Amino acid sequence: MEQYKSTYGLVGYPVQHSLSPLMHNAAFQELGVDAVYKLFPLQEGELEPFFSDLKKDGSPIFGLNVTVPYKEKVLVYMDSLSPFAEKVGAVNTVVVSAKRQLTGHNTDGPGFLTHLTELGFNTAGKRVSILGAGGAARAIVTVLCLVPERPEAVLIYDIDHHKAEALVQDLGQRFDTRLIKVVHSLDDLNLEISDLLINATPIGMKISDPCLLEGFQVSRDMLVYDLIYNPAETRLLKWAKEQGAKTSNGLGMLFYQGVLAFQHWADVQLDKAVKDKMWASLKTGLKS
Ligand code: NAP
Repeated sequence: MEQYKSTYGLVGYPVQHSLSPLMHNAAFQELGVDAVYKLFPLQEGELEPFFSDLKKDGSPIFGLNVTVPYKEKVLVYMDSLSPFAEKVGAVNTVVVSAKRQLTGHNTDGPGFLTHLTELGFNTAGKRVSILGAGGAARAIVTVLCLVPERPEAVLIYDIDHHKAEALVQDLGQRFDTRLIKVVHSLDDLNLEISDLLINATPIGMKISDPCLLEGFQVSRDMLVYDLIYNPAETRLLKWAKEQGAKTSNGLGMLFYQGVLAFQHWADVQLDKAVKDKMWASLKTGLKS
């Protein structure tokens, strides 16, 4: 029989820029596990045969991450979903059992919340404003609606407000979304009374990208969280910092969604030494 390493990996397109291999291979190395995390850049037509092979005995793959643009498209290949992934309607982590059954999880929302908690932000009674209504916003909005520390309000602005309305309507079929309001202009986000502003758009990734909120004011007590982590300080974060607001980029979210995914695959809690190696690998990866 052909010898192989237990394999994990990231399915998406494109995936070449991903830091996930660094983070997960660092964890395997620290744990002394003979496994490897690879990139699987797949075109849409390759998804079906890939997942069909995954279910066959003899496949070396025991766990996956899923990224843009397939987080919703892979739902049909799952044999079961975690309650949270079912609510979000998207999967970013797949666990493959010994019997080749696939369970879909979503660690984006919990990863974001874990980082928010680490930053000392408690969502109870808070007013949250979100820019963007795509895949990442979907996971974040879901976690904000389900968390026991319920925010007072969640306002969403997307350049395409129909998209934001469709998102809320879709989520509303699975849980109570009454605290969410779609706004049609940046003015209506009422930033001066907001406690948390989240950028869930890709605007800021390119050096030439504008600050979406130039000319607006934020309060000094506000936390401005940009999901983007490369560059480490987007124009939005610079703008917020200049006004005295607290800021964070999305590296912590990336880290915690990865830690939670690994814990699903291994079915163990990772200790501090392993997590430290994962975090250090992300920092190194961003520098190079
Ligand atoms: P996405 O599905 O493409 O969603 C982005 C949304 O923002 C789209 O609905 C887009 O509308 C909207 N948008 C674009 N420009 C806008 C503007 N000027 N004002 C308001 N809305 C605008 O992307 P995603 O997967 O949610 O990811 C969003 C960002 O989060 C990316 O930068 C991604 O790298 C980052 N992210 C980070 C993490 C992490 O772990 N830190 C995890 C996931 C995602 P159109 O479709 O009409 O352009």
